[in-house]
Amino acid sequence: MTIVIEPSPVLHQVAQPVTVFDDALKATVTTMRQTMHAANGMGLAAPQVGLSQQLCIIEYLPKDGEGKLIEADAIAFFALANPKITWQSAQQITMTEGCLSLPGLEGEVTRPKRLRVKGQDETGNKLVIKASGMLARILQHEIDHLNGVLYDSKLNTGTQLRPAQPDRKGV
Ligand SMILES: [Zn+2]
Repeated sequence: MTIVIEPSPVLHQVAQPVTVFDDALKATVTTMRQTMHAANGMGLAAPQVGLSQQLCIIEYLPKDGEGKLIEADAIAFFALANPKITWQSAQQITMTEGCLSLPGLEGEVTRPKRLRVKGQDETGNKLVIKASGMLARILQHEIDHLNGVLYDSKLNTGTQLRPAQPDRKGV
C-alpha cells in the first residue's frame, strides 16, 4: 500500500461503513500496519491508503529507555472499524499534530482531552475505548480521517502549519 498525500479526493470523503468482517479485512489491517511501520506512524486510517472504509489502526506504546511503559493511556495495537464518539470531555487540550498525508508538517490543534469511542475490531467484536492523553488525540485525528476531515482545517486560530520536528510520528 502507498500512503495517499494531499491533495486527494479520497481524503475528503466520508468513508463507507465496514459491513463484512472477513479474512480480506484482516489482510487489509495487516498490510496497513506494515505501511504504517514503514512510514514511522502511530495511526493510519483506511482513506490514507486509498480505501474509503470506516477503518483505522492505532499503535501507540511509548516506553522509556529501559522498556518500561511510561503512559497508561497507551495501547500496543488495535484496529477499529465504524468508530463513533459516544462522549467527550468539556475540558480541551492543545497538542501538536502531524499527518502522514501532509508529510513534513505539523501544527497546533485544540481538542477534547478525553473521550469514549465505540466501534468494532477487525473480527466484528464490539469495542469500547476510554482514552486520554496521546491516545485520545490519535483517535480523534483518525476518526476525522474517516469523516473526510484533515487536521489542517482545525488549526488553532492565528496559527499555521510549520515544518515538522524530525522525530514527529505521523497519524
Ligand atoms: Zn492523518
